[in-house]
Amino acid sequence: MGEAKAARECRICGKVKEMQAGRAKCSACRSKAQRAKARERRNARVDVKEHDYANKRLPAGYRLRGVSQQVDGEGNVLTQWLKSERYQGDRLEEFLECLEVVLSNVKGKAPKIAPPKPYKGEDLLNILPIGDAHIGLMTWCKEVGESYDLEIAQGIYQRAFDAALATAPKADTLLILNVGDYFHSDGGKNTTTKGTPVDVDGRWGKVFSAGIEILCYAIERGLETHKNVHLVCAAGNHDAEAAIALSACLRKFYSKNPRVKIDEGISKFHFFRHGSCLIGCTHGDTVKAADLPLLMAHDRKEDWGETTHRHWYTGHIHHESVKDMAGCTVESVRVLVPTDAWHHGQGYRSGRDIRLVTWHKERGRIGQNIFGIDMLRV
Ligand SMILES: [Zn+2]
Ligand SMILES: [Zn+2]
Repeated sequence: MGEAKAARECRICGKVKEMQAGRAKCSACRSKAQRAKARERRNARVDVKEHDYANKRLPAGYRLRGVSQQVDGEGNVLTQWLKSERYQGDRLEEFLECLEVVLSNVKGKAPKIAPPKPYKGEDLLNILPIGDAHIGLMTWCKEVGESYDLEIAQGIYQRAFDAALATAPKADTLLILNVGDYFHSDGGKNTTTKGTPVDVDGRWGKVFSAGIEILCYAIERGLETHKNVHLVCAAGNHDAEAAIALSACLRKFYSKNPRVKIDEGISKFHFFRHGSCLIGCTHGDTVKAADLPLLMAHDRKEDWGETTHRHWYTGHIHHESVKDMAGCTVESVRVLVPTDAWHHGQGYRSGRDIRLVTWHKERGRIGQNIFGIDMLRV
C-alpha cells in the first residue's frame, strides 16, 4: 500500500503538485537534485583523477581506477581512497625493462669459441628446426608408455645436436629455428600462457635454466663448425612470454660475439633470406597453414619478389606435414618429446625425429639428415 498523496506546493519550484505525505519537493525537482548530486560526484572524481600525485602514489604497473572520498557538510575532503588496477597496456614494456636489469650480469659472458677454417665451396645454409621441445614436460611410463623429464630431455637434445652437427655439410651459416612451445609451461604457475595446467618437472627456475643450457649447447656446437649461428625463437601458445625472456637472455649472453645473431622474440613471425631462398618461421597456433604464403608475400614484399624458393617452418601440431602451396611450401616439423598424459589419453600419436636441412643459395632445399628418437636414447 502506498502513502496517500495530496496537492501541495513544492518548496523548490513553487508549483502545486500531487506529492506524497512528508515530501517537500515535487518528483521533478527531486530527480533534478539527484542528477545534480551525481554530476557533482562525477566531477569530484575527475578532479582527483587529474591530480598527478594520485598516480604517483600507485605501485609500478598500476593505474588509478577511481577515488572514494569522505567529505564534511561543506564539501571539504576528509579522507580519500585511491582504487587501482593492473595496467595491462604496459605489461610487455615493463617485463622487458625488468629483464634488462636482471640480465645485465650475464651480458657478454658467453665462452669464446674458435671459428672453423674458412670453407670454399657452394653457398650453403644449414637449418636445424627444433620442433615443439616442451622443455619441462614430465610423463610417467605407466600412463603414456615412457617416462620423460628434464634430465632425459637434456640428454636427448644434446645427442641430437651432436649427431646433426657432426653430419652437417660445410656451410657458412647455421640457422636454428625454435618453432615455439620450447617450454612446456609459461612460468612458475605450471600452466600454458592462457592458464591451462600442465605436468611440469620441477621448479620454473630449474626448467628455464635447463632450456637455456640446451640452446646454448646447440649454438656453441654450431659455432665450432659454422662461421655464423643465427637463432630464431618463435613464441608458442605454451610459452608466449617465456619465449621473449629466452631470446632476451641469449641475446645478452652472446652480445659480444659477432658470430651469433639472435632474433628478437617479440614478433610471432620471423623471416630469413639466403640468396633466392626465403624462410619463414612461426609457431602455427594463430594463422592457418593455408594463409601463411600470402602472409609471407605481404610482410616481405621485396624478398618475395626476389626469391624463388619460399618455405615456412612451423610447429604446434607435433606431426609432420608438408604442403606445397602457390608460391610457397608450408611445413610442420616433428618433435622429440613424448605425448603428455592428456594428449595421450585423447589418442594423439606421432613420429618423433629432428632434421638438419641444407639449402643452396640458388637451388633451394638440397638435402636433409634425419635423426629418429631411437637413435638419440641412451
Ligand atoms: Zn602449440
Ligand atoms: Zn606443442
